[in-house]
Amino acid sequence: MDKIVSLCKRRGFIFQSSEIYGGVEALWDYGPLGSLLKNNIKSHWLKRFVQEEDNIVLIDGAVLMHPKVWMASGHLENFTDPLVECKNCHSRFRSDHMIDGRFIGQGKAKEKNQCPQCGEKEFTPPKQFNLMFKTFLGPVEDEAHITFLRPETAQSMFTDFKLVQEAMRLKLPFGIAQIGRSFRNEITTGNFTFRSREFDIAEIEYFVEPGQDEALFDFWLEKWEKFFLELGLKKENLRRYEHPKESLAHYSKRTVDIEYKFPFGWSELAGVANRTDFDLSQHAKFSGQDLSYFDDEKKKNYFPYVIEPTMGIERAVLAILCDAYQEIKGGRTKTTKSAKEVEVVLKLDKKIAPIKAAVLPLVRNKPALVKKAKEVYQTLKTHFVCQYDESGSIGRRYRRLDEVGVPFALTIDFETLEKDDLTLRDRDTMKQDRIKINELIEVLKKKLFE
Ligand SMILES: [Zn+2]
Repeated sequence: MDKIVSLCKRRGFIFQSSEIYGGVEALWDYGPLGSLLKNNIKSHWLKRFVQEEDNIVLIDGAVLMHPKVWMASGHLENFTDPLVECKNCHSRFRSDHMIDGRFIGQGKAKEKNQCPQCGEKEFTPPKQFNLMFKTFLGPVEDEAHITFLRPETAQSMFTDFKLVQEAMRLKLPFGIAQIGRSFRNEITTGNFTFRSREFDIAEIEYFVEPGQDEALFDFWLEKWEKFFLELGLKKENLRRYEHPKESLAHYSKRTVDIEYKFPFGWSELAGVANRTDFDLSQHAKFSGQDLSYFDDEKKKNYFPYVIEPTMGIERAVLAILCDAYQEIKGGRTKTTKSAKEVEVVLKLDKKIAPIKAAVLPLVRNKPALVKKAKEVYQTLKTHFVCQYDESGSIGRRYRRLDEVGVPFALTIDFETLEKDDLTLRDRDTMKQDRIKINELIEVLKKKLFE
């Protein structure tokens, strides 16, 4: 994990927020490469679940909502973690994490129920701590103006259910999809970006006729899992976790997590929940509006059930980085003497790699090569995110590109000037092929997206 954290910082994937001030726990900035990677995951998600689906539409809801939303949804009452306070140093912890021994080995904690800050073992009785960030709407800071930063994106898809259904003339089953910022004031943080206080959720509320919910749950679970394989994660690093009845969230009839084998252990990456008609019927009750669906064939009104596949974009990023990271002792190149050190290759899936290709003149002191390389780069960058790099030996440049997962290196050499072709080097196989420059864009499109 330390190696991934260090690579992320050094090469511009992920930085700690406000680092010059000592950083803030569980808040992260995505750097030039990290933000491209995130965008590529989101684009692929939108293509797969909105563009290619006949009956799923996208919305972009507000982060702040009417305070009553959180009463109706049950978050005000139930979106809590049990919190205990150390009687000696007043540090606060999640009591379930204290009990399961998560802090053992951290700071002064040598056993369960011991404070990692001071080593004492006396705590206050657990009390429920709400994980929603509180804020005020407008300039008056009193009870009546309190609202919350949304802890999930789902609620606007329920409150807009009728508007979306009517505007788009949708019939069951149909889905509303959304990718958006969510906020949770986590008590326990750590494991790099895994438990962040601010993150993007990508989720779908899939509205179905009651009675069809169980079959469609299984359908979505399979589809959801397949998406992670498409992002390049290895099958053996994914598994399902079925939540036992007694630990289900207050709205759920069934929840299955998709877990990933992170360096710190199996942990939740995504999930599918059967939210029943809980949310729509609650919002109907609290708003006084009719949120039922009129079934044309059955000639009756009812509240649809909801199957909710959900994933955290940042967790996907973390899993993808862990999965793609490879170290090769002594390097992969057998021909050069310099390749004795450990070589890092980030084997990112080509379609989500932040930079698709790099254009490299073989040497930088030959103006004809540099001129040609810059020409190729200018044309290429209107089609793909790519890079121009002329500094250092060609071997060193290849290794720099491998480390951030650039799938293709395109080298302009002396032969280029005669034949108008270049060398295309594949990151994973290191195989080099000569490609005609006028065919380059088509070749790359095939290799990247097919
Ligand atoms: Zn303490």
